[in-house]
Order: sequence, then structure tokens, then C-alpha cells
Amino acid sequence: MLRGMSGGAVLRLKRMVRRARRHPWIFKGDVADVADVEAGTAVSVVDSSGQLVGRGFYNPRPALCCRIVAWRDEAIDGALWRRRIEAAVEYRRRVVGPTAAVRLVWSEADGLPGVIVDRYGDVLVVQCLTLGMARARAELVRALRATLGELAVFNADEPVHAGLEGFAPLRGWLDTAGPARAIVEEPGAAGPVRFGVTFGIGHKTGLYLDQRDNRRHVATLAAGRDVLDAFAYTASFACHALAAGARRALCIESSAEASAAARENLVLNGASERAEVLAENAFDELRRLERERRRFGLVVLDPPPFARSRAAVEGARRGYKEINLRSMRLLEPGGILATFSCSHHVTPEDFEEICRDAAADAGITLRTRTTLTQSTDHPVLLDVPETRYLKGLLLERTQ
Ligand code: SAH
Repeated sequence: MLRGMSGGAVLRLKRMVRRARRHPWIFKGDVADVADVEAGTAVSVVDSSGQLVGRGFYNPRPALCCRIVAWRDEAIDGALWRRRIEAAVEYRRRVVGPTAAVRLVWSEADGLPGVIVDRYGDVLVVQCLTLGMARARAELVRALRATLGELAVFNADEPVHAGLEGFAPLRGWLDTAGPARAIVEEPGAAGPVRFGVTFGIGHKTGLYLDQRDNRRHVATLAAGRDVLDAFAYTASFACHALAAGARRALCIESSAEASAAARENLVLNGASERAEVLAENAFDELRRLERERRRFGLVVLDPPPFARSRAAVEGARRGYKEINLRSMRLLEPGGILATFSCSHHVTPEDFEEICRDAAADAGITLRTRTTLTQSTDHPVLLDVPETRYLKGLLLERTQ
């Protein structure tokens, strides 16, 4: 068996694989040879000359077979989890304002590749994405509780990731049960906004935390305007806009479950009389609104990732162009479009180009007020460009 400096098993990279940059991903095709280890256990990754690159968990099953956790020869154990979690929490304390709902650990971006931890009030939602992290779950939770106190932990593993990695996804309370539902408060442009979160239900871990900063920013422009929140999920943009003085909001969301949650959130914020939620397909509704010559002062377009692979980018481009083109036509003069793409495979330049094409076809002139990105609790690592995925443009119709 190949042995490393600390005595652990070794994974040796092929000669041509460049490891100068601190990018943690090792693909099967990069591997020259690897010790016969149990899947999900730690290996020392070395380059072809035997120089240590780092240490990470190895899993022969997925194409992305190892993600480096430590860049030096150190044990991957509870003490390391504790240091990483403390650093991640401390970063949020510094950069995220007071909010009950926050992403505390974001995988690669926090030196903890393969695990996500979101906090909703007194509940931690933990999502393991790799076999190695699923095996380390108990140690990770111990480190989380040592840092944050004895909070209830809800497991929210995604079956797709778990299937690729070969572990049984856990969904439900880890030990002591917490509340089935929590109401969390997020700071808004003109006071707090409240959202209901039912653990284990819906998308992400409950809320799209990556849009928190954008919800607040967009709401600063909402006063007195009629708002269209398309692909609304639980109406988080609409709730913020209405709380900040928007006149009315129309939300479009195809999922019946999310639409029901959207209506509850509007009630929670005392805004249900000024809002309507349509559980419909946004493509059809945008077409209908255009036909009816409706006009809005603020349109938010936050679709799901249309391009889930590189091969799907062309089709995605058409989808993005269509919804942007129709939304632009719905803008009153001076109206604002907050438009987003969370597809990893669509670059900010691609997205801007798509919006430019849409504006050309719509025949209107738009001013770029600002570019938008993911909230600060989803940090972007310089060496890992994949950590930047949410792109947004705040466009204002000039005529
Ligand atoms: N803006 C939301 C997140 C939106 S995620 C927030 O900040 O909370 C994208 C949403 O679009 C999902 O809720 C998904 O159910 C919905 N969706 C997907 N396809 C749709 C379609 N064709 N029409 C309407 N909604 C759709």
C-alpha cells in the first residue's frame, strides 16, 4: 500500500496535473495511482514527484473522487473541523448583519468541501454532499455545537448527491427534535421581514439565502411601484418589496406547495391584501401579461438553473432570453428589472450578452444600475471560480 508522510494512504497525481493553485478538486482522470482504501476515508494527495499537495477524502465512485480539505500534512479530525467551523462562523459575524437565517458553512468556500450548514433561528440544517463528510457527520455536529451551543440539528441530504457518492441520505432530526416550523426574521430595507420555514420541505434548506442581500437591495427601489415577482418560490422578493412600500405585487410560482407558502409569508408580513400569487407557469403568464399590455415598475426574474450542464447552455440561453425579453416589455418607463441566473455554466458575460439580445428584440434602452451576485455568506474563493454562481443585473428602463 502507498503510504504518505503521516502514515496515511496516498493518492498520486499524474505528471501533467498542475496543482500550483489551491483548487480542491481531484478528478479520477488526474489520478496516476491510489492506495486501496475504504471509500470515504482520508488520503494524502501527492504530485508525480511525491510532493504533498494536501489531504482529503477519497471516494472511487464519483468522477470528482477527492476534494482537498487540508493543504498541509495534518490530521482530518474533530480539531480541524472545530477550527474551520469557528473561522466560518466568525467570518459571518463580521460580514453578515444580524439575521436569523444564514449560511454558516458553504462547502469548498469555507474549507469544508462536501458539507453545507444553514442556521434558521435555533435550528441548524446540515447537508452532507460527499461520502467522506457523511461519515464525519457526528464529529462535524460535535464541532458545530461546541462553537454555537446545543442547537437542534436537521439533516437535509440531497438524494441525488448521496446516490452519486454512494451513501444513504439522511433527512430528519439528528437526535433531539426541534420545531417542525420556524418563523425567521430577515432585515429588510424598511424593517424586518418574516418568513416561515418548514424543515425538510421545499427547496434548498428552506430559503434562498443566497438572495438575501439582493432582496434587501431591490426593496430599496420598490416604494410606490407595482411589482412582478416571477419564479417567486415563497415570495421572498415580493414580501421585502411590499414591506418597503411597494404598491402591489403579483407573484408567479409553478409549484403549488411553494405558492401556498408564498401566501402564508404574505400574511405573516401583513401584505396579503396587496398581493396575488398565481400557481402557474411563468413562461405562459409573462406572455399573457404582455398580451394584456400590463405594466410594472419593478420586475424580479429569478428562475431555476436552466443550464444544469455545459451541454444545456444553448437551450438555457433561449429560455433566459425569452423571459428577459418579455419582462423588459412589461416595464413602465423608469421601471426596474432585477434579473438573475444561478446556472454555473452561464458566465456573467454570457448573461449580460443574453440580456443585451433580449433588450434589442424588445426595442428598449436599459441602464445598468448595478451588477448583483450572491449574498456574502456564500463567499467566493479566488482560486475556486466555481464558487461564484449567482449573477444578477439591475436594469432600469430609460424610455
Ligand atoms: N426568488 C426566490 C427563489 C426562486 S427559485 C427566492 O428568493 O426565494 C426558482 C423558482 O422557480 C422555484 O421555486 C421553482 O419552483 C420555480 N419555477 C420553476 N420553473 C417554473 C416555471 N416554469 N414557472 C414558474 N415557476 C417556476
